[in-house]
Amino acid sequence: MSTVFQCPGCKEFISRDATSCRFCNRPIDPQTRQAAAAAAEVENREYRKKQSLRTMLIGLAMAAVGIVITVGTYAWAASSPRGGGYVVTWGLIVFGGLRVVQGFIGWASGK
Ligand SMILES: [Zn+2]
Repeated sequence: MSTVFQCPGCKEFISRDATSCRFCNRPIDPQTRQAAAAAAEVENREYRKKQSLRTMLIGLAMAAVGIVITVGTYAWAASSPRGGGYVVTWGLIVFGGLRVVQGFIGWASGK
């Protein structure tokens, strides 16, 4: 929800409920306020969608890194004659996976 919008006169951000601009004292009629708020809403939605997409991509990258480390160290441990431990990066995979889900939900709900 956006609670501010740009004054059509001076381009300062003013409250959505303002009846006049507190910067330039320009009176704000309801139509102007509504149109400006609607425009800001669309902008915010686009921004949120982009953010959600970014969250998803970062989550994917994190999970991918986690899987690469897990598989890589497992292959190394398995091929080592002395055996040895390997690293399972559940943290990265799970956290990354959660970010993907979170991002997807945000993206899908951003109508
Ligand atoms: Zn103004």
